Amino acid sequence: MTDKISRKRRSENMRRIRSTGTIPEKAVQEIVKDLGLRYRLQSARLPGRPDIVFPSLQKAIFVHGCFWHLHGRCVDGRIPSSRQAYWEPKLLGNRQRDKRNRQRLTRMGWKSLVVWECQVARVESLTRRISDFARG
Ligand SMILES: [Zn+2]
Repeated sequence: MTDKISRKRRSENMRRIRSTGTIPEKAVQEIVKDLGLRYRLQSARLPGRPDIVFPSLQKAIFVHGCFWHLHGRCVDGRIPSSRQAYWEPKLLGNRQRDKRNRQRLTRMGWKSLVVWECQVARVESLTRRISDFARG
């Protein structure tokens, strides 16, 4: 049941995103641009390849898909009940890797922020969060 709901919502999200031509990374990029912050995209040299990087501030933003990165307490961040043996290690592995990457960044003296796909639609609060993160 849960799986069915989340799959339905997931496909609705995908449809909405496709129809506006906005992928979450792009939406976050727009917010950063509007805030007048200087940024770079996808730094392959940093652990986990953050989506948006503020090199001079040593701060990085990850934009995570709720499903693939297993967003806690999110309707889209659940392990599907079908083919659980396949999904569980895969998704838990992703989450572990994300955690390790953020820890590595911290050890390198960087700060990181995770923006979840489901938070992108709430532009105002997301703008505030990103502003606080970058300027704080
Ligand atoms: Zn989510």
